[in-house]
Amino acid sequence: MPELPEVETIKLQLDRLLKNKIIASVELRLPKQVKSDKKKFLKLVIGAKIKKVFRRAKILIMDLDDGYHLVFHLKLTGQLIYQKISRQSGNYPNKYSHIVFNFKTGDRLFFNDLRQFGWVKLVSANELKNILQEFGPEPLAKNFSFEKFYNIFAPKKTAIKPLLMEQIFLAGVGNIYASEACFCAGILPTRRADKISTLEYRKLYQCLRKILKFAIQKKGVSAENYLDALGQEGEMVKYLKVYGRAGEECKKCGSNINSVKQGSRTSFYCPKCQG
Ligand SMILES: [Zn+2]
Repeated sequence: MPELPEVETIKLQLDRLLKNKIIASVELRLPKQVKSDKKKFLKLVIGAKIKKVFRRAKILIMDLDDGYHLVFHLKLTGQLIYQKISRQSGNYPNKYSHIVFNFKTGDRLFFNDLRQFGWVKLVSANELKNILQEFGPEPLAKNFSFEKFYNIFAPKKTAIKPLLMEQIFLAGVGNIYASEACFCAGILPTRRADKISTLEYRKLYQCLRKILKFAIQKKGVSAENYLDALGQEGEMVKYLKVYGRAGEECKKCGSNINSVKQGSRTSFYCPKCQG
């Protein structure tokens, strides 16, 4: 699933590409991926100008000039791919292009989704406010201090790694970056949050922010079928130390990377580097 760095990559690209673009028409090829009244959706979206694109947690929001907002969640396999009229590659639409936004300029935005768990909603300013409040702090926000991080997790009595992925505690971190941050900090994903020292928490906080920033630079991990808004794969996968590497050698100590089920998710770790 695209996490914070992947959605941030798409946001950075789309904000530049979509600003001031007017939506001329929308093709609902698979209407169920629109989680709003379809008639109202089309009425309010067609003719609207996009003012700004931003991200909160793993969702992407487009502000429209009629006061409404388009909210996208890519879930497991969603893609948002932009094609300029001058650069139509012929790759899109494909059979997974379930919603297509056509702009006045002739450019197009394809919402593709192999597994069809992703969605788009049209919401009012008030509804958007409620959605944005469903999430914990943004880990890369300037005001997200170590103290805030520590106070969220240190009192909890369950395993740290699933806690890092709880969107109400921390926004945008999923399986990939929670696993990587625990490795970087030398903490087993199964460690109880209240048994982790302050020093280790300091390391975990620094690791998490460092890895997320680096992953944005590398345009994210192309696991599943993630592509950025230009249809390109991210380069982050080659920098992953544990995620998806069960049975392979630890890049630091040479031991075998192990995996463990925590709830419904698989965590990856090095039994020697993490304690
Ligand atoms: Zn190791």
